[in-house]
Amino acid sequence: MSVVTRFAPSPTGFLHIGGARTALFNYLFAKHHGGQFLLRVEDTDRKRSTEEAMQAILHGMNWLELNWDGAETYQSQNADRHREVAEQLVADGNAYKCYCTPEELAEMREIAKNSGGGTRMYDGRWRDRDASEAPAGIDPVIRIKMPLEGETTIADLVQGDVTKANDTLDDFIILRSDGTPTYMLAVVVDDHDMGVTHAIRGDDHLNNAFRQLHLFKACGWDVPEFAHIPLIHGSDGAKLSKRHGALGVEAYEEMGILPEAMCNYLLRLGWSHGDDETISREQAIEWFNLDAVGRSPARFDMDKLLNLNAQYLKTADADTLAARVLADANAAGITVSPEAETRLVAGMPGLASRAKNTHELFELSHLYLVDAPIEMTEKARDSLTDAEARQTLKELAELLKKATSWGEAELDGIAREYAETRELKLGKVAQPLRAALTGSSVSPSIFEVMAVLGRDETLARLEFAAN
Ligand code: GLU
Repeated sequence: MSVVTRFAPSPTGFLHIGGARTALFNYLFAKHHGGQFLLRVEDTDRKRSTEEAMQAILHGMNWLELNWDGAETYQSQNADRHREVAEQLVADGNAYKCYCTPEELAEMREIAKNSGGGTRMYDGRWRDRDASEAPAGIDPVIRIKMPLEGETTIADLVQGDVTKANDTLDDFIILRSDGTPTYMLAVVVDDHDMGVTHAIRGDDHLNNAFRQLHLFKACGWDVPEFAHIPLIHGSDGAKLSKRHGALGVEAYEEMGILPEAMCNYLLRLGWSHGDDETISREQAIEWFNLDAVGRSPARFDMDKLLNLNAQYLKTADADTLAARVLADANAAGITVSPEAETRLVAGMPGLASRAKNTHELFELSHLYLVDAPIEMTEKARDSLTDAEARQTLKELAELLKKATSWGEAELDGIAREYAETRELKLGKVAQPLRAALTGSSVSPSIFEVMAVLGRDETLARLEFAAN
C-alpha cells in the first residue's frame, strides 16, 4: 500500500503554527514512506472562506517548502460528487431523509439537555419512516444511520485505542436541506476519492473521527488510519492563543526567521528523536514516525525558536544566505555590483554568526553591498571629525599599500605595529578604521572586513574617509 496523506486547511484564517505543524507532519510521514502528500483546501464554508486567507496558506506552505504533490484540491468544487454519495446512501438504506421542523429539533435538544446525558440530540424519528409520510413544503436534510448500540473504537496512531459508546453518536446530517454537503460528508468523500491512507491532524478532530469512521463504512470504503496530534499550548500551559505568539506563519517570516529553522522548531514541537535538536529536512524525512509523537500538548517557546534560528544562520550555506540578502537588497532598491556580490559571499560566515534573524543579517551585510564612497552613520562620521583620526587613517593606508599579502592576520599585524610605533591604543586605530570601512560602529572584526573587502576597496574607503 502506498501512503497518501493530506493537509486540509480551511481558508477561514491564516496558516497558524498549529496548522503548519500538521502540514509538516503529513509531509514528512508521506515522504518517509515514499508516498504522496496532498493539499486540499476546505473552502465549503463560503461565508467565512476568504481569498486572502487562501493565498496566505499557499504562501506559507511554499515558504516552508512543504511542497504538495499534484494540484491542490478545492473542496467546494466537489459538491456534486458529495451530493451524489449522499443520495446513494439513501438509495442503499444507509441514510434517510429527515423532515423535522426547526421547532421539533429545538424540542429534541431541550429533552436531551434535561435528561442529563445519555440521550441523543436527535431522536431518530425519521430513521424508519416511509417516504410517503413526507410532509409537503419541507425540504428534507439527509441523515446517516449510525449504529444504535455498542461502541466504536478508533485505533489512533498517536492516541492509542479510543472508545466511544455509540449512543452518544447521533444520526448526523450529511446533506443540508438546500442540497449542500456538510463538512463531515465532504471530508469523508474527498479523503476516499483522493486515496488518503492516513489522516494526520489536530486532536480537536478526534470526536469527528468517530462519525467519519461510520460514514466511511456506510459507503463501503476503507477507513484511513487516524493520527490525532495534541494541540500546541503556550509556555504557560494554556491553549495557544495570540498572546503566546500564535501568529500566522507569515509573521515569523516577517520576523526574519529562516524557513528551515521554523520547520525544525515545529518538528520538535511534539515529536522527538533522542536528544537531537537540529534536524535537517533529509534527516527528518528519514526519521519521522508517528510513534514518537507525544500524547501531551507541546509548549510553544518563542525564545527557543529565536535561538534555533540564530543557530541556523550560523551554519547555513553562504551562497543561500547571500541569495536571500541580494533579494532583500533588490527589494530595497539597492544596486549591487558584481564585486560587492563576491564580497558578500566571502564575508557571509562572519555576518551570519552575528545575526539572530534575516533582518539583522541584511543590515550587517550593508557594508559589503555598497562600493566606495560609502554612506556613514552620524556616529561613524563623528569619529572622523577629529584631524588626528584622519591622520591615523592616512598613515595606516600608506603602510597597507606596502602589504605583500592581504590576509586577516597580516593586516592585524600591520595595524598593531603601527599602533605601537605611534604609542596609540589599538582601539584608537580600530575605531576610525571601522567607521571608514563600514560606515557604522558595529561590524565583524575590522581585519576580517578588510580581508573580505580586498585591497582596492579598502584603500578607496580609507582615502575617502581620510579626506
Ligand atoms: N479543515 C479542517 C481544519 O482546518 C481539517 C479537517 C481534517 O483534517 O480532517 O481544521
